[in-house]
Amino acid sequence: MARTTFIGGNWKMNTDRQSARALAEATARAAANLPIQVAIFPPFPYLIDAAAALAAAGSPFNLLLGAQDVCHHPNGAFTGGVSIAMLHDVGVRVALTGHSERRHVFNESDELVNAKTRAILKMPEGGREAGEGQLACILCIGETLEQRRAGQTDAVNRRQLRAGLAGIPGEAVDNGRLTIAYEPVWAIGTGVSATSADAQDAHAKIRAELSAMYSHSVADGIRIQYGGSVKASSVAELLAQPDIDGALVGGASLSTDEFPAILRAGAAKAAGAIA
Ligand code: PEP
Repeated sequence: MARTTFIGGNWKMNTDRQSARALAEATARAAANLPIQVAIFPPFPYLIDAAAALAAAGSPFNLLLGAQDVCHHPNGAFTGGVSIAMLHDVGVRVALTGHSERRHVFNESDELVNAKTRAILKMPEGGREAGEGQLACILCIGETLEQRRAGQTDAVNRRQLRAGLAGIPGEAVDNGRLTIAYEPVWAIGTGVSATSADAQDAHAKIRAELSAMYSHSVADGIRIQYGGSVKASSVAELLAQPDIDGALVGGASLSTDEFPAILRAGAAKAAGAIA
C-alpha cells in the first residue's frame, strides 16, 4: 500500500507568540502544494495564533495543526489538563502521545500513554462527543542509550508499542489516524541520528509487530516516522528506506531554511525520486 509521506515539526517549548505565528506562516507556504502530509506542533498557548496564521496562508489542506500532548479525561477537575475536545475546538487535528520527553522528563508510564492514545483513537459509539474520533495520533516509542547498549532496542519498541496500543482495535487504526514515530531517545536533540540502516531495521520490526498485533494489511497502512536529530542533510537517506514513511522533527523544524528543505525531501520521496 502507498503510504503518504508524513513530516511533523515539534516545536516543543521553543517559540514565543510572534515566532510561532511566523513559523506557522512559513511552514504553510513551504507545505502548500506538496504531495505529502505535514503537521506542526506549537506550544499550547500559541495554537490559536498558529491556527490563524494557517488560515491567513490559505489553510493548505495537507497541513495539520497538532498538539504536543493531551489529557485523556474529557472534562472535570484536572488542573492543567487540556482535553481532546478543547484541542479539536481550536483547530487541532493530530496529537502526539508518548514523546520521550513526556516519558522521561514527566515520568509518563506506558499505562498513561495508552490512556491518552486510547482516548484519541476512541471510535464514536452512537452520538459523537465533541472531538471524539476526530483527531489523529502519533504514538512515539524508542529506546534509551542504556537500553540500546544492552541490546534491548527491539524489546523496548515491542513493549511500548503493545502497551501504547493495548485495547485499541484494528478498526481504530486502519484509517490513517495512527502513525508511529520511532524516536531513539539517545538521538533526540543530540545531533546524532540513527543510521538509515539501523532505523530501517527498527521500522521493519515495528511493522512486523503491528502485523502480529493486527494484520498484515493494517500494518501495511500504518505510517512509521523516524525522529531523532533529523536534518535537511540527513533526511533523504532516511526517507529512502522502505519502512520509513516520514519524520518527526524537533530542532530543525524551528528553522525556516531546514524545515522547508526537509518537506521538499519528503515530496521527493512521495514522487518516487528517492525510494
Ligand atoms: C523530537 O522532538 O521528536 C525530535 C526528534 O527532536 P530533534 O529532531 O531535535 O532530535
